[in-house]
Amino acid sequence: QAKERRDGRPAVYDPSLHHELLDRMTLESDLRRALIDQELEVHYQPTYMLDSGELVGVEALVRWPHPERGMVPPDVFVPIAEQTGMIHELGRFVLSQACAQGQEWAELSPFVDLTVSVNVSVKQLQRREFVAEVQETLRESGFPPQRLVLEMTESILVSDTETILRTLRAFKEMGVRIAIDDFGTGYSSLSYLHNFPVDILKIDRSFVERLSGTGAEESLVETIVHLGRTLKLETIAEGIEQPEQIHALRRLGCEQAQGYHFGRPGPAETVTQLMLATAARREAQADAAVPRH
Ligand code: C2E
Ligand code: MG
Ligand code: MG
Ligand code: MG
Repeated sequence: QAKERRDGRPAVYDPSLHHELLDRMTLESDLRRALIDQELEVHYQPTYMLDSGELVGVEALVRWPHPERGMVPPDVFVPIAEQTGMIHELGRFVLSQACAQGQEWAELSPFVDLTVSVNVSVKQLQRREFVAEVQETLRESGFPPQRLVLEMTESILVSDTETILRTLRAFKEMGVRIAIDDFGTGYSSLSYLHNFPVDILKIDRSFVERLSGTGAEESLVETIVHLGRTLKLETIAEGIEQPEQIHALRRLGCEQAQGYHFGRPGPAETVTQLMLATAARREAQADAAVPRH
């Protein structure tokens, strides 16, 4: 059903198609097969310090290059995976890829310590075995728990509180950090945020979009940054597309940023190149600081 583009490559998946039940069922069985055939891939989007412009980490984002439909967006197939229970296998795949890749980067140079963020769904968090699985994946890969961040949406703060709290505390003990993704779009109360062992707030793109440079529309972002500072949480702005947004975010005291302006999600090799360039620059700086004989 996918249209062919003129260059013969498969067209980008048209989400309007997935309303049909038949289509949805096909997609579901295709996803099941894709998991078996290891058709899914993991791309990585870089995160930068806003003050220094230094590369600090990457976010792992799952990709599904469907053989006939082209790229199916995660917003389409992640919900299907959640509804059918395939999310656990999908999640294990992404996490193991991300940790192995993170360790590969760590071994490339001692000059760059990239943080690796992985999105997890509430369904994964509710599963009893999840903490042990993450621990095992970290052990197998050798990737340090302190460099892993698990991203989850605000909805976890209001659902199944006891299980989630226990799970998050276990991660805290391991040294794994927790980020609240798309922050500001849900309805987490201050007290929830205070009681959960959260480390990072990711400011949703919809708020960043409104930072036009005129100074108006800044108050929401400002409020979140202040909240982060009060609760001693890092703040990362998502979806930076314009340079004016960077200036506003810096002025507001936001620490880190991610977005198409800095770099789109891409295959691991893209990040390897970025990382090597950063490492070379830092190595040269370190050399220059050492007196020569
Ligand atoms: P997210 O975790 O909030 O990821 C950010 C999304 O915004 C990504 O879309 C990214 O490509 C996109 N993005 C980044 N910078 C910009 C920008 O400057 N402008 C715009 N317009 N978009 C930008 P993507 O990869 O399509 O992922 C969508 C969502 O799917 C993610 O939102 C996340 O909730 C979910 N997802 C992706 N990978 C996984 C995964 O491995 N597991 C789970 N459970 N969910 C995932
Ligand atoms: Mg995310
Ligand atoms: Mg997000
Ligand atoms: Mg999102």
